[in-house]
Amino acid sequence: MSSILVTGAAGFIGSHFVRHWVRGNAQDSVVALDALTYAGVEENLADVRDRVTFVHGDIGDSALVDRVLAEHGVHTVVNFAAESHNSLAVLDPRRFFRTNTMGTQALLDSCHRAGVTRFHHISTCEVYGDLALDDDRAFTEQSPYRPRTPYSAGKAAADHAVRAWHETFGLPVTITNCANNYGSHQFPEKVLPLFITRSLDGERIPVYASKDNRREWIHVLDHCRAIEAVLKDGRIGETYHVGTGVEVSVDEMADLVLAELGLPRQRKMTVPDRPGHDRRYLLDSGKIRTELGWAPLVDFGTGLTDTIRWYADNRAWWEPLRGRSPVAEEAWARA
Ligand code: NAD
Repeated sequence: MSSILVTGAAGFIGSHFVRHWVRGNAQDSVVALDALTYAGVEENLADVRDRVTFVHGDIGDSALVDRVLAEHGVHTVVNFAAESHNSLAVLDPRRFFRTNTMGTQALLDSCHRAGVTRFHHISTCEVYGDLALDDDRAFTEQSPYRPRTPYSAGKAAADHAVRAWHETFGLPVTITNCANNYGSHQFPEKVLPLFITRSLDGERIPVYASKDNRREWIHVLDHCRAIEAVLKDGRIGETYHVGTGVEVSVDEMADLVLAELGLPRQRKMTVPDRPGHDRRYLLDSGKIRTELGWAPLVDFGTGLTDTIRWYADNRAWWEPLRGRSPVAEEAWARA
């Protein structure tokens, strides 16, 4: 039996990737591992339950991971597992380093011991630090790492570990660094679902004071397709950037959500920035486009409308999750 292990599979991107992989790769059995932190939702995998073996566990639990890799004959590991909320990292950095850095390191060890034939690591544009709003450059795969937040520092450390396990132990690795994802099933603490769910509830939406700070947005399915392209045709030891070039400021995003829902701009309220709020990231994704022929397929306007509609239609999914989030975005002035 030959299997792919997806970690962090009950999260936003991980669950989309599992669904995507199951649809296109019927020959593979899929093992979905997730610690089910406050951000993990096993229900995200409900529609593929009969195609996936779910394991409740921590990537840092080496005995468990060793057993899973051996029992399922895992050939490929895709590591999404992470603490992913930048704001929480300001309040509780240690849990980020525990999972994102030490957990990844433990997983690398397990994969080396088991002799997996591919370890694919999911990283982020944030490891490069931020760009000035008027900078005309984009980050390339050669840009220096300059993380500015506990989240991005822990992710950067993990990327270094992944490369080190390749160079030192010969583990066949690939890395993708991706821009900001949007789509269905994103935990309601993140900026876009926060804006949408607050708006749907008739509440005001909290916009950071640095409202012109912007992000590069990619639909989660385009990210999944990029990972698949790297798994199938990417070169071992290489890093690929995954981005769209579509940049939208925090303020513009708030306006787009309000406009789609027919609500007035007065629904916005300004809140203090969280400490270390990065101004801007932009990835040069020329390498994956020219080498692997990947390109984003989802038009931003269409994808955003679909996402807003999904939240409007799936209150039962997000309502129970709201109370689980440990961070109040309005609270930075008091922190
Ligand atoms: P998410 O918070 O929705 O999902 C993370 C999942 O990991 C959750 O299901 C959680 O339960 C699980 N998890 C946490 N700690 C774990 C542990 N120790 N062992 C096993 N599982 C654990 O996050 P997401 O937005 O889906 O992000 C997934 C990955 O993609 C992360 O590595 C993140 O850094 C990266 N990424 C995200 C974005 C984005 O815009 N969301 C952009 C670039 C990269």
